[in-house]
Amino acid sequence: MADAMSASGRTTTPPPNGPGERALYNKAEYAGRKAVVCSPRRAAAVLVLVFLAVLAIALVAAFARPACLPSTGVVGPTTVAPPVATRPTTADGEPFPWDSLRLPPAVLPRRYELLLQPNLTTFAVVGRVKIQITVTQETSFIVLHSRNMTITKRELHTSDDSVNVSITRLLLYPERDQVYLSVNESLQLGQNYTLSFEFNYTLREALEGFYLSHYTAANGSKRYLATTQFEPNAARAAFPCFDEPQLKATFQLAMVRHESHTALFNTPRRSTADLDFYLGAGIKQDDFFETVRMSTYLVAFIVSDYAHISDTTDGNVLVSVWAPPHLVQQGQFAAQVAVSVLDFYTDYFGLPYQLPKLDLVAIPDFAAGAMENWGLCTFRLTSLLYEPSSGGSAIQQWVTRVVAHELAHQWFGNLVTMEWWNDLWLNEGFATLMEFIGAGHARPEYHMGQQFMLEATLTALALDSLRDSHPISVEVTDPDQIESIFDTISYSKGAAVLYMLMKELGQPVFKAGLNKYLRRHSLGSARTADLWAAVQEAAAEAETPPAGDGPPDVQAMMDSWTRQKSYPLISVVLSAGRLTVRQAPFTQLPAVGARQSDAPLWHVPLSCRLHRRAGLLAVRLNGTASVTVSAPRQSAWYYCNVNKTGVYRVTYPADNWAALQQLLLAGSSHLSVQDRAAIIDDAFSLNRADLLNASVPLRLSTSLSREAGLAPWAVSRRHLDWWLQLLYDQPTHAPLQHFVRRLIAPQYGQLGWSEQGSHVVRRLRALVLAWAVSVRLPEAVARARTLFSDWRNAGLPVPPDLRQLVYSTGVEYGDTGDWQFVWQRYLNATTPTEKNSLLRALGASTDPLILEHFLRISLAGELVRSQDFVLVVESTAANQAARLRLWRFVRLNWHKILDKFGGGTFMIDNIIQELVSRFSTQLELEEVRAFFDGKDLRSASRSLRQALESIQLNIRWRGSHQAAAAAWLEDWSRREAAGAAPPTARHWPN
Ligand SMILES: [Zn+2]
Repeated sequence: MADAMSASGRTTTPPPNGPGERALYNKAEYAGRKAVVCSPRRAAAVLVLVFLAVLAIALVAAFARPACLPSTGVVGPTTVAPPVATRPTTADGEPFPWDSLRLPPAVLPRRYELLLQPNLTTFAVVGRVKIQITVTQETSFIVLHSRNMTITKRELHTSDDSVNVSITRLLLYPERDQVYLSVNESLQLGQNYTLSFEFNYTLREALEGFYLSHYTAANGSKRYLATTQFEPNAARAAFPCFDEPQLKATFQLAMVRHESHTALFNTPRRSTADLDFYLGAGIKQDDFFETVRMSTYLVAFIVSDYAHISDTTDGNVLVSVWAPPHLVQQGQFAAQVAVSVLDFYTDYFGLPYQLPKLDLVAIPDFAAGAMENWGLCTFRLTSLLYEPSSGGSAIQQWVTRVVAHELAHQWFGNLVTMEWWNDLWLNEGFATLMEFIGAGHARPEYHMGQQFMLEATLTALALDSLRDSHPISVEVTDPDQIESIFDTISYSKGAAVLYMLMKELGQPVFKAGLNKYLRRHSLGSARTADLWAAVQEAAAEAETPPAGDGPPDVQAMMDSWTRQKSYPLISVVLSAGRLTVRQAPFTQLPAVGARQSDAPLWHVPLSCRLHRRAGLLAVRLNGTASVTVSAPRQSAWYYCNVNKTGVYRVTYPADNWAALQQLLLAGSSHLSVQDRAAIIDDAFSLNRADLLNASVPLRLSTSLSREAGLAPWAVSRRHLDWWLQLLYDQPTHAPLQHFVRRLIAPQYGQLGWSEQGSHVVRRLRALVLAWAVSVRLPEAVARARTLFSDWRNAGLPVPPDLRQLVYSTGVEYGDTGDWQFVWQRYLNATTPTEKNSLLRALGASTDPLILEHFLRISLAGELVRSQDFVLVVESTAANQAARLRLWRFVRLNWHKILDKFGGGTFMIDNIIQELVSRFSTQLELEEVRAFFDGKDLRSASRSLRQALESIQLNIRWRGSHQAAAAAWLEDWSRREAAGAAPPTARHWPN
């Protein structure tokens, strides 16, 4: 699954451990299918004939229900439970005999036959599932999952249908979505049985399970579709199942639909039958081919009136993009990317894609950014559809990345699946790493290397230096804990530590290890340790061992990065021909009650570049606190963590910091674009952690006036914008803003407002112009306002890369009429990315009445889709004029927000990250604490603790470093006034 939060093609980057982009954005082999009574084709025919009569009756009943009511509970007799003293009880107060979140291991599912009929007029769903199970331990009960549905019939037979096993009780425990069935005779070890249910429920706009979504057609009519989102645990809301990732089985689907609709499943359609005779005119049933062995969370089906475009890979896989008919041409770009990346991955992983087709489907209402369902990936509209005339380079890149991410999961996650959710990071970290590698293959001009550092490594380092971070690999049991680990640590830090391992071993060895892992566990499940074992074998077999003293102990190295939170600060000192490297945990606030002797240690691969030394000096800390190696006696400077491949920060004695400043300011070719960005990022972060004077990052920032690389600009903006925000009510704000304007001016002049240049130049331009407007560079503000009025008054379209900036500036500096104009354009916009840009711009208003109105209509959810409320929160939280109003609005409407977004979406997390972590006074800290005290935040409680820590850091920075920053700025201002000429631009390559 890819996270939703950077789906909008933002041109800014997140502030240090504050709001912003999160990582963009799921046993034993059974005895084959011999026990299956019928062939798949015959089974489907039997299914149809036997259940048509049942369905017809059930449909009458189900379709007569009010469409808006979810149904729960169970129909049919239940017997009195025996007096077992366990805590869980059913809704009726009966003891529920199974007391574990995990299902008992006595029964394993092998094959599901599913028949569904969703009605897109009444929204009623009736269904039937037959689950073939194998008994692995003699047992007299079965526990499986089901949520929010009415089970109307249940049966248990031996697999040859010869014996009907009587189900004596059916109990429900809704808190854990569990169904308990007891039987009148023991199920025998090694025997196969068929467990059948008939059930019904109502489609709702729930964003999970089998749910309802809609779009507005070109003629203005409202069209419904029914779609699925099962990860992590919502397959159980669509049909009764054994809903744990390691309980893999095959799935066969028959979908009853109206002839005006198309049904899609993980596999291609095998046949279509007319059901007019039984169910009325225009009713069809599609039967799909049986899937390969897979997890329940990867099953998907969609019924819609969508159109599609298709292309074929070199490996003969049919790739189709599906979307509302009037938008489907906007899927061309994603289809091209998917074809290119699918062929690339087939080669990279050394294994073909397992299915004959891959559908990519744009879903109007979608909680995450995208979902990797095997063969049927689903996306937010803005993560899949790209229209060159309105979408900028950031949006194009985002679509490429999300497609590359979901396609990587087809191998990593789908073909080989984590045994349990505690290894989720491996799925998501790996897909995040591959998203950059795959996107880099499809579009080499993106220069994904520096963007990986920016958006994976640096984002992870910012969050993981908080006390309230967590190890990548964590024990998770309950659903809230599972939800809470779909976070930056799993995605970004996971990707960053895998990249560090890849760099340490070399890509050929890493790939060979992956290939072993994928082959060994193909169609099965695995643990993280299985990957390390495979990579270790590949390292041992490699003909050319990597540099240094042989391959590292992969398990020990990676355990040190995945099983403990945080990361080290590496101190490097060169003295008298000895290079001494020490490690200590880096946290921005001192760790509570930590003793030096208990400090965690990491296995650190370190590469250093020294003045006048050819090549790199490789140093390894193998879980020790320090190491000393011999080095040249004389070196004017030394720089470690070359290209920022290691997931840590580095610090030096004052004289080497000064030497690196000189190197940076002199434009030395010894520093790559990643190195330049990393030096700046480390300096700002060490300052925030109270370990470095504010003058160091400020002085390093002056290199921007000669800088043409995207990454140094992005990190500088991230940090300096944060400072500007902390100082908004302080006298230092104006001098800092002036300083930033002076830094920007040369590059601003160089880039201009054209649409020329490479992808990276266009991204840099979008960043520099947006920054120029936000620090009120007069000519930039004037130009953006002119472009806005030309658009509003003369209908001149704004260049795609500049749209967000121009719309926002028009609203910020405009009047009520300008806001209304943008609002109307928002309501009428049909292109998803354009709609997003307009919505974000609406939050830039400075008018209190407009802001209040905007927040109210956004939360109401009629004119602004619920999933897009997060964009409203992002844009108003970033707006100084709106922030306190938003905070008041959130407090006043907390129950409404919780009702709407509290059920396992990223929304509450995001409100807290976007809004709360920006506060910077004691009063605000106390207000936030008091408001949330005693409130159940479920999966967002860690986000709140992190936000509170961020406020403490903000307060400390204002108290401890503002004065030093002010003094340095005053001195700089004096020197500037004395006539220091602004340096020329384009000193650095990009
Ligand atoms: Zn993912």
